[in-house]
Amino acid sequence: MGVVRSPSVSRYAAGRLSPIRRIADLRRLRDEQFDVLVIGGGVTGAGAALDAASRGLSVALVEARDLAAGTSSRSSKLIHGGLRYLEQLELHLVHEALTERGLLTSRLAPHLVRPVPILVPLPPASPPARVWQRAYYGLGVAAYDVFAGVFGSGRGMPLHRHLTRDGARRLFPSLRADQIVGAIRYFDGQVDDARLVVNLARTAASLGAAVVTSARVTGFLREAREVVGVKVRDLESPDSPEFEVRARTVVAATGVWSDDMSRMLSDVGVRPGFRVRASKGVHLVVPRSAITGEAGLILRTPTSVLFVIPWGGHWIIGTTDTDWQLDRSHPAASARDIRYLLDQVNTVLDRPLTVDDIEGVYAGLRPLLSGEADSTSKLSREHAVVEPMLGLLLVAGGKYTTYRVMAADVINRAVRRLGGPAQPSRTDQLPLLGADGFAAAWRDRLDIARRHGVTAGVIEHLLERYGTLTVHLLAMIEADPALATPLAGAPEYLAAEVAYAAQAEGALHLDDVLTRRTRISIETAHRGAETVAHAAAVMGDALGWDAAVRAREIEHYLARVEAERQSQKMPDDLTADAARLGVPDVRGYAADRGIDLLEVEL
Ligand SMILES: Cc1cc2nc3c(=O)[nH]c(=O)nc-3n(C[C@H](O)[C@H](O)[C@H](O)COP(=O)(O)OP(=O)(O)OC[C@H]3O[C@@H](n4cnc5c(N)ncnc54)[C@H](O)[C@@H]3O)c2cc1C
Repeated sequence: MGVVRSPSVSRYAAGRLSPIRRIADLRRLRDEQFDVLVIGGGVTGAGAALDAASRGLSVALVEARDLAAGTSSRSSKLIHGGLRYLEQLELHLVHEALTERGLLTSRLAPHLVRPVPILVPLPPASPPARVWQRAYYGLGVAAYDVFAGVFGSGRGMPLHRHLTRDGARRLFPSLRADQIVGAIRYFDGQVDDARLVVNLARTAASLGAAVVTSARVTGFLREAREVVGVKVRDLESPDSPEFEVRARTVVAATGVWSDDMSRMLSDVGVRPGFRVRASKGVHLVVPRSAITGEAGLILRTPTSVLFVIPWGGHWIIGTTDTDWQLDRSHPAASARDIRYLLDQVNTVLDRPLTVDDIEGVYAGLRPLLSGEADSTSKLSREHAVVEPMLGLLLVAGGKYTTYRVMAADVINRAVRRLGGPAQPSRTDQLPLLGADGFAAAWRDRLDIARRHGVTAGVIEHLLERYGTLTVHLLAMIEADPALATPLAGAPEYLAAEVAYAAQAEGALHLDDVLTRRTRISIETAHRGAETVAHAAAVMGDALGWDAAVRAREIEHYLARVEAERQSQKMPDDLTADAARLGVPDVRGYAADRGIDLLEVEL
C-alpha cells in the first residue's frame, strides 16, 4: 500500500519531477509491485494517478511521450459546462462539468483556471424572431448560471448579462455591426491545459506516485486470464531491453490510443467493451492586435460551434470537427482546415483575418466513444470505464473539464477490485501544488515584486503559471541572476522557466519546453525557431547536455517546425499527414543523452 513520504521531505520537494527522480522512479518500476499502474499521462491518466495516490494506494504512471503530449495539450483550453450540451439537453453533463469548474476555480487550481468572459452574438432577424432568439439564448445562459450557482458550487464566476448592439460592440469593437443585433455575455473557465496536467502529475508524485515519461507500454503481463502488469520500453534508452512492471490493477487512460490496448489482448479474444474514434479539431492562434475585443465569442458553424477566446497576448480560434484516421501522435492541420476557420470567423469580424495574421496552428484529436452516431460532432461526450479483462480497466471519453470525475470512477473500480477498506475519492478536497496560499500571494504581488527586484508583470506571469511555487523560480533567479533574462524571441517567458521545466517539471526535450511547459511553439510567428538556441543553452546546462545533444535537439525542433509549416500548406488530410510525418518524434533516438546527477536540490 501507500508509499509514505518522509516527514523531512517537503511536499514540494517530493513533487519535483527532476532527472534524478526519473532514474529513481524507473528503478521503482522494475522493483515494486504497484496497487495501480496508470498508462497515459494526459489529463485523465494524471488525474487517475492523483486520485489513487491520494487514497493511499501505491501508484505508477507511465507515459509514452511527454505529459500532455496527446490531446490534453491541444484543447480549446476551456473549463466549461458546454452551452452546446445544454442545447442538446444533456443536463447531467452540464451539471457535472459546472460543478468541476467551480471546484477548479475556487479550490483545486485557482492559480491555473480563471474566468473568461464570452459573448453569444445575436444575429440580425425579423422583430418576432429577434425576441424569440434572445429569449432562447437568454434562457440557456441563465440556466447555465443557475446550474453553476445552485447545483455546481459555481463560486468565482460572474453572472451573465444581456447587451444591446452598442453594448456588444463596446466590449468587442471588431464585431461587424451589420451581423449582430445584440449579445449575451457569460463566463466560463480558461486553463493552460498542458500545465494543469503537469501539475496533476507532480501533485501525484508529491503523494508518492512514480511518474515516468518516455516510457511506452508495449504489452501486458498476464497470468492465466488476468492482467498482472505491463511491459515497458524506456524511449530515452532505446538500446536497453524492455522491462516488466507488476501491478495489481492496470488502468489504461490512453485517449485515442485506447483501441491499441485491447488490440494487445486480441490473442486471448478479449473484446474491448468500447471503441474510441478520433475526431480532429484544429485551432489557430493570432495576435491580440488582430482583433479588438475584451471578451471571447462563441459562434454557430454549420457543423458545430466556433470559439474565439482571448489567450494572453493572443486569440485562440477553433475548432474544426472531422473524422481522423491517420497518425495519432502528430495530427496535422491542412490548408483546408485553416481556410475553414478563417472563413467562419471572418463572417463576424469587421477586418477579415488572413493567413498572414496566423502565429500558430495546432491540431488535437477528441477521443470519442463510438457507436452512437455517424457524425463525429454527435458522438457521445460521456466517458466510460470498462474491464475487458480481469486486472485491466480502460477509461476514455469525457472531456478535459471532467477529468476528476473520470479519475474517481476508474479508481473506485480499482479499489473495489483491490479489496480492503473502501477509501472514497478525496480529490475534491485536495488543492494542487501551487494552489495553497495563491489568493494571498496574488494580493501581495506588488510587494513580492519589490522584494525580488522584478516588475509586477513578471510576478503576475509567474503566479498564473506556477501559483505559490513561484518562490522556487525566484530562488533559482536569486542563485543565478542570468535566469532572469527574457527568452530570445519570446520575452514574456524567462530563462528560469526553461531551467525549472527541466529540473522540476519532467521536461526531457526542447519540444517539451517550447510546446507544453511554455506555449512558445504556438504563440510566436517563428514558432520557437528564434528561441530554440537560447532554450537549448539553458536546458543543456540544467540537464548536462553535451554539444552533440544540444545540436541534435535544436535540429530536431527546427525540422519539426518546418514539417508542420509544410503540412499546413497541403490541401487535405492525406497530404498534410504525409508532410508532417517527414520528421519522426524526438523520443527514441536519444540514447547517448547524459544526465547530470549532481543537479542541485532546491
Ligand atoms: C480540438 C479539441 C478541443 C477540445 N477542447 C476542450 C475544452 O475546451 N474543454 C474540455 O473540457 N475538453 C476539451 N476537449 C477534450 C479534451 O481535450 C480531451 O477529452 C482530453 O484532453 C483527453 O485526455 P486523455 O488523458 O483522455 O487523453 P490524452 O491527453 O490523449 O492522453 C493519452 C495519453 O496516453 C499516452 N499513451 C498512448 N499509448 C501509450 C502507451 N502504449 N504507453 C504509454 N502511454 C501511452 C499518450 O501519449 C497520451 O499522452 C477538446 C478536445 C479537442 C481535440
